[in-house]
Amino acid sequence: MKITDKRTALPVHGTRRYRQRTQRQIQFIALHHSATVSGSAEAFAAYHVNQLGWPGIGYHYVIDKKGGISWCHPLETISYHVGRSNGAAVGICLVGDFRQERPQPAQRTAAVELTKSLMNELGITKEKVLGHQEFPGYQWKDCPAFSMSDFRRELTNAGLKLLFSRGATGPEVKAIQQRLKELGYSPGPIDGIFGPQTAAAVIRFQQQAGITVDGIVGPETWGRLF
Ligand SMILES: [Zn+2]
Repeated sequence: MKITDKRTALPVHGTRRYRQRTQRQIQFIALHHSATVSGSAEAFAAYHVNQLGWPGIGYHYVIDKKGGISWCHPLETISYHVGRSNGAAVGICLVGDFRQERPQPAQRTAAVELTKSLMNELGITKEKVLGHQEFPGYQWKDCPAFSMSDFRRELTNAGLKLLFSRGATGPEVKAIQQRLKELGYSPGPIDGIFGPQTAAAVIRFQQQAGITVDGIVGPETWGRLF
């Protein structure tokens, strides 16, 4: 993934500022197209600020047609891209008008890779990776104008090392802990460290699910969890 950090480099409004949130408030990843044949983070930022009067660019990430990713805002920034759902969503925009063209292969690959890395970082499952149009109030909007079910299929655990047991650490462990907590299996602190409390929670989950009880999250347990 080729990411260029433009978080402090893009035009912003003279006085207006976006509100902020914690990463824990983020539940969705939203995909957009720019609905323009060309464009860039700089051009969209200028348009959003100068024409629409927004505090800054609407998207957290912009992916150009060659697959280059511009990082526009910290994830904590509540920028404008999905109306009432802004507070809970991260916005990714692919440059292009996909009502009349398709995403370029390198661009699509970059979108999948960026989305997967955000899913891991934020503990978000593929069911919560939505097209703009799939958010409440936006059925009328033809955005991102490519198939989100195809896109989500590409996210299916791909690239994920699927074996987590005592001593494992990292964003996937954190996602497992968050999911166990949501399901009521008290895994202890959500810290990304697979310790004894997490193992005990996995065992209780496996007993309830009627699958092999070993305290290890392999493909079967992962599949049941998510
Ligand atoms: Zn959109």
